[in-house]
Amino acid sequence: MSDLFDIIVIGAGPAGMSAATEASRHGASVCMLDEQQTAGGQIYRNVVHSPAARSRILGADYRAGLLMTQNTNESGVVHRTRATVWKVDKDGSVAFTVDGQAEQIRGRHVILANGAMERSVPIPGWTSPGVMTVGAAQILMKSSGIVPVGAVLVGVGPLLYLVATQLVAAGAPPKALIETQTKSDLIAAMPHFLPALKGWKQLAKGMQMIAALRWAGVPRFKGATEIEITGGASVEGVRFRAQGREKTIHTTTVFLHQGVVPNTQITRSIGLDHEYNTAQHSFAPITDDCGQSSNSVFSIAGDGAGIGGAKDAALSGKISALNALRQIGKITQSTCDGMAKPLLKRRRAELAIRPFLDAAYPPPASVLRPADDTIICRCEDVRAGDIRRYAALGCRGPNQTKAFGRSGMGPCQGRYCGLTVTEILVEETGQRHEKVGSYRIRAPLKPITLKELASLALPQETDKSK
Ligand SMILES: Cc1cc2nc3c(=O)[nH]c(=O)nc-3n(C[C@H](O)[C@H](O)[C@H](O)COP(=O)(O)OP(=O)(O)OC[C@H]3O[C@@H](n4cnc5c(N)ncnc54)[C@H](O)[C@@H]3O)c2cc1C
Repeated sequence: MSDLFDIIVIGAGPAGMSAATEASRHGASVCMLDEQQTAGGQIYRNVVHSPAARSRILGADYRAGLLMTQNTNESGVVHRTRATVWKVDKDGSVAFTVDGQAEQIRGRHVILANGAMERSVPIPGWTSPGVMTVGAAQILMKSSGIVPVGAVLVGVGPLLYLVATQLVAAGAPPKALIETQTKSDLIAAMPHFLPALKGWKQLAKGMQMIAALRWAGVPRFKGATEIEITGGASVEGVRFRAQGREKTIHTTTVFLHQGVVPNTQITRSIGLDHEYNTAQHSFAPITDDCGQSSNSVFSIAGDGAGIGGAKDAALSGKISALNALRQIGKITQSTCDGMAKPLLKRRRAELAIRPFLDAAYPPPASVLRPADDTIICRCEDVRAGDIRRYAALGCRGPNQTKAFGRSGMGPCQGRYCGLTVTEILVEETGQRHEKVGSYRIRAPLKPITLKELASLALPQETDKSK
């Protein structure tokens, strides 16, 4: 048997939770799938089980997620936890695995709220044991209360400062922040500063984080270049150049961050239309204001449609739910428009700060297009220079690089190297990003065993909306 729902929501972050509760409020049968143990997504990960002391360390924005997750739990939405989605079909069928057992359900409409992932940071030494992303370090804090001591944080962006201040609050201040932001980045951001004042609360939070780091005496090195993680079998330190001087900081733990990018594995696998966002240096699926994608069965909400932050994600989730309800005939077009209007206005205010943040915290060219000897595909051990060599031999796009040297063919399915391969090919071939494109993504989207695949009992549908 397989179940038919009015609406399936993939992802239980702020976007998914808002979408699911809004749709359920209007009488739709809703199933929300997420691979995490509890609702919350990235920002509110594990908030329902977080001990008070840990929640205090993680801050007020984290604690704010408690109410949203509680409301979702009480909303009547069918929430399948630990459900890893590995296949989505154009007709709204969704296959997933829970505890080794595969299932397939179908939605009359599917809201993709599967969020963002951190941009990979291919710099020399980034594959050494002891190196992980800032987001991964934060996952350890949120899910298990593990706090690394004496870490060095390298990169750029608000999440870098947030995690650094969370480490300070946990009593384990980072040894240093090595920041790639330059004065030119700040100058480039200035034209966006006045409009960004609409988001003054977010700006104020940023200033508070920087003040907290200064207060805690955490050294910050700005405009860092030529960054290299040293050591052999494990990390020994970070070498870099800043203010015209070479410097090494000794550490066994390095956290990297260069912003987050939409996770487009699902949207690509269904063949939805995408475009390249030059300000965010990433691809995003094309949607209208209400989150409607190029296929009428799918809406996209939250960071998966373009990076906007948690509050914007929650608003876009609600709007996508209205769009989904309209698509399946639960509400009329005019009801949808009327209810979406004030939400869209709030979204515009929420997004006012984005152009400033995008310009002020860009990934440096050395991360977008690494030096030849840097590994970019860590699953298959392919280096940046290999991609340049393939381009010289006539390779025009990421899918061809698979045939030339297996890049993107490992278990991560190109999540790590996809954007880097595109950037290098854009530079080497002179084509536009849209022309070079991305890896073609096929199911299974996440590694599953043959036993799990075989456990899928194929369908006879039960309609859950009746
Ligand atoms: C690692 C990381 C940490 C972050 N921490 C913060 C923070 O502390 N503060 C902050 O303001 N912003 C943070 N952000 C940014 C933050 O993600 C967003 O602003 C906000 O959470 C976006 O909400 P969302 O609902 O769009 O997506 P998310 O919150 O990312 O939720 C997406 C959900 O989809 C689920 N999912 C994805 N793929 C699948 C699949 N195949 N099968 C099943 N489930 C799936 C994920 O488990 C996740 O729960 C972080 C981002 C990342 C990548």
